[in-house]
Amino acid sequence: MKRELGCYLNPRNPNLPRIIEIYLKHGIRHIGTDGCATRDPAAHEKAGALFKANGLTVESVHSESQIMPGPGDKPDSLRDTHKRILDRAKDWNAKHVVYHHSSIKLRWFDSVGLEEAAIIMKDPKGFEARLVEEVRWLCGEAGARGLNITLENLPACHLVARSMDQILPVIQNVAMHNLGICFDSGHAHCAGRDVAAEIRKAGRLLWTTHFHDNRGGGDPLAKISETDLHWVPGLGTIDWIAVVRALDEIGFKAPVVFEGAHVGVKESAAGWIDQLDDVISLTLRNWRAFEQLAAAGPGH
Ligand SMILES: [Zn+2]
Repeated sequence: MKRELGCYLNPRNPNLPRIIEIYLKHGIRHIGTDGCATRDPAAHEKAGALFKANGLTVESVHSESQIMPGPGDKPDSLRDTHKRILDRAKDWNAKHVVYHHSSIKLRWFDSVGLEEAAIIMKDPKGFEARLVEEVRWLCGEAGARGLNITLENLPACHLVARSMDQILPVIQNVAMHNLGICFDSGHAHCAGRDVAAEIRKAGRLLWTTHFHDNRGGGDPLAKISETDLHWVPGLGTIDWIAVVRALDEIGFKAPVVFEGAHVGVKESAAGWIDQLDDVISLTLRNWRAFEQLAAAGPGH
């Protein structure tokens, strides 16, 4: 099955028109947007107008905020931020807003997941109750704007947020019809999970993707920057043919969206934009080859 494909972009990248031009050249009409913590409505309007004028569908908006307030913060202290993110997603006619599962507002550092897990593990039951309440509120606000919330699996150091076994019970407890999963292939692989098996576990709750590759791992003490490499699919060690077959098995019909897949030059680095045409071409050609091999049946 030849799936529709999409790619993430950063709405605040000064090269946004050039990025869109490259995506369109390769037939990419679905996008995800990175989080952008600006309160400048004019910047969002400008990006939204550009998406509309180019016929782009916003599959997902990545929240720049964590779900839960930090230790000592008021329980409702992030709600205005959440509303702003949901309003932006509505303005862009997005389908899903992506939040990192079990995320807490903390000062970011490479292994912040360990600190997050330490806070949660002091009182796992109490944390889950508060998380369920906050996600339920988020889903209510999202639903009123015609949006879905999706929870994303995280890399190895996020000890309580790296597998479907940890996300699915929360989704069940929240019990809202507009709550699903954004599955990140790279996070699952560098957390030492079997990527295809995680997709099968997510099943009908898998609504959107962050696909990219890396060398795998599983060590929670390894640096995220050295394991969550965001390489073009096929350059790392994920079994992508098994991934395509797992998507077929669960009847995944939405576009497959690649998130920040590159060949080692990150978006923040000089030269990234000059490589983008090649990178997108490689990503799409590899993906179509995986689909072809997956369809070829046993022995491939
Ligand atoms: Zn992701």
